[in-house]
Amino acid sequence: MFYQQQFDVIVVGGGHAGTEAALASARMGVNTLLLTHNIETLGQMSCNPAIGGIGKGHLVKEIDALGGAMASAIDKAGIQFRTLNSSKGPAVRATRAQADRSLYRTEIRKLIENQENLTLFQQSCDDLIVEQDQVVGVVTQMGLKFRAKAVVITVGTFLGGTIHIGLENYKGGRAGDPPSIALADRLRALPFRVDRLKTGTPARLDARTLNYDVMQKQDGDTPVPVFSFLGKPSDHPQQIPCYITYTNEKTHEIIRGGLDRSPMYTGVIEGIGPRYCPSIEDKIHRFADKDSHQIFVEPEGLNSIEVYPNGISTSLPFDVQMNLVRSIKGFENAHIIRLGYAIEYDFFDPRDLKQTLETKYIAGLFFAGQINGTTGYEEAGAQGLLAGANAALQVQQKEALILRRDEAYMGVLVDDLATMGTKEPYRMFTSRAEYRLLLREDNADLRLTAKGRSAGLVNDQRWQAFNEKLEAVELERQRLRSTWIHPNHNAVAELNTILKNPVTRENTLEDLIRRPEMTYKKLMAIGELGPELENPQAAEQVEIQIKYAGYIERQKDEIAKTLRNENTLIPDDFDFSQISGLSNEVVAKLSDARPETIGKAGRISGITPAAVSLLLVYLKKHG
Ligand code: FAD
Repeated sequence: MFYQQQFDVIVVGGGHAGTEAALASARMGVNTLLLTHNIETLGQMSCNPAIGGIGKGHLVKEIDALGGAMASAIDKAGIQFRTLNSSKGPAVRATRAQADRSLYRTEIRKLIENQENLTLFQQSCDDLIVEQDQVVGVVTQMGLKFRAKAVVITVGTFLGGTIHIGLENYKGGRAGDPPSIALADRLRALPFRVDRLKTGTPARLDARTLNYDVMQKQDGDTPVPVFSFLGKPSDHPQQIPCYITYTNEKTHEIIRGGLDRSPMYTGVIEGIGPRYCPSIEDKIHRFADKDSHQIFVEPEGLNSIEVYPNGISTSLPFDVQMNLVRSIKGFENAHIIRLGYAIEYDFFDPRDLKQTLETKYIAGLFFAGQINGTTGYEEAGAQGLLAGANAALQVQQKEALILRRDEAYMGVLVDDLATMGTKEPYRMFTSRAEYRLLLREDNADLRLTAKGRSAGLVNDQRWQAFNEKLEAVELERQRLRSTWIHPNHNAVAELNTILKNPVTRENTLEDLIRRPEMTYKKLMAIGELGPELENPQAAEQVEIQIKYAGYIERQKDEIAKTLRNENTLIPDDFDFSQISGLSNEVVAKLSDARPETIGKAGRISGITPAAVSLLLVYLKKHG
């Protein structure tokens, strides 16, 4: 039975990847269906109630720059905002917000329900319709068939999901949700490489049973940061504090005593877990010399009694969870509302994907999110947006949206996945981006909004705001470049109270901002030199562009050099061991990966720029 003749794009799954994918495709004017298990869980945060952080905040800003949902939803649902690394350079500064879990879902649902060209349908997708290696639709649990020209699968941790608590386990997609078994079987029958991964979450505690007086209080930042380029602090709901406490020797003793009933340590779980978000039993095992680990005590929402103890994810049995929680300062009388657990699920090797996130073997079939081996809402959202956009572009027969590594963290993410694959849940870090001076949170719009506009992802309101900002920055930079301060200028006396070396000759305002002790803000506060730009984002941009111009130019030169050599071919049967100067390890990695080009060789983990230079010199000499 065909429920409706034809959609252009069908997105399966309403998590972080699926909602961005469906919104992107529909924004581009393409007739889109979002098919998901349960409409109540659209935008559900399966684990920690927070968005952003190091590397992840960059992805959220990029999603926003392309017109996506995540930043604007968290602006309206965030109950504590902070800028991490605020004392460091702008490249590694990252925004993070604690979310009211329920408000976040509400905001995402509002965006979905108000999006033109987007139809919602609640039911499990159990099968795909594939004709001559081209996907042409999906079949639901009840046997309803929907046809489409492209299908984006974003089913998270649900494929063949198994939930573990101690040595008990059962099938589930995440706590409270059914797994996707039929779809997992169908996908396993297609010619993709598949494996298992694992992730986990801590118990949730009843706030009324915690003693906050003995914990450290942590307030958000003031002024309160915002995520969206179109956002403002007044978008935020009430802001509240988080707290900090620690595990101790007794906690560790309890955990060690429970390891014989841990599914991870008894070999019941085979999937590999997230290295950077380990369970507490893993931390105690791996960092045996540490007698304490930090726990962030995070509220789940303004109207919720649930608390998320960030740092003690576990799949130990209930009695051990209870004892370990109660051994922690401030948690002595804690009541557990939901148990911590681990989940094992299928993921598909992302090396079987093109850079558009379309699968290599089934035309029109795209994968995004946790199914590709990543972990995190932001990584999922970023892939969802790109997969949804590329599915829509394919339907429209337009050029694909592919972002390069020097253009976006999204480009780094997709390139890492499609080129190198992953053996453990992949999360984003600033250290994964070789051009991080250019890929900052603050300039995500300057890097991506015009591209988003060309693809049809960016609406008129965002486009206008972007152009106004661009113009304000340009005009202000021209003014700062062309305004000269003579030693006898009225402002010099006040200027000299800030500057280390007094003004003794002519300087432009731009020259003065370049001095380490001066900032744009301080300079604009002096006499008639201001006023500072009213738009704080434009003001920040002026300062960063001036202060970091030298570094930024150097990085642009490096990129130009790399791009010139990016496509230099490496012969199929090339013997890497003939290059003198390469270590045995590098030779082994290159021989194993057999990159086709210099660009791909440089992206293999452990292959240094020096090794790439040796390879390049050799190929040029003997090519
Ligand atoms: P999800 O958000 O899981 O969404 C999948 C969607 O698909 C759901 O709406 C589901 O109902 C729907 N669906 C599934 N199958 C079907 C089907 N057959 N038909 C229709 N709809 C379907 N991330 C971190 O960064 N750090 C962590 O510590 C962390 N811990 C986690 C712990 C647990 C227990 C879990 C479950 C997740 C954890 N995550 C963590 C991962 C994070 O939740 C995911 O990375 C993120 O939600 C992935 O987004 P997604 O859109 O790919 O999938």
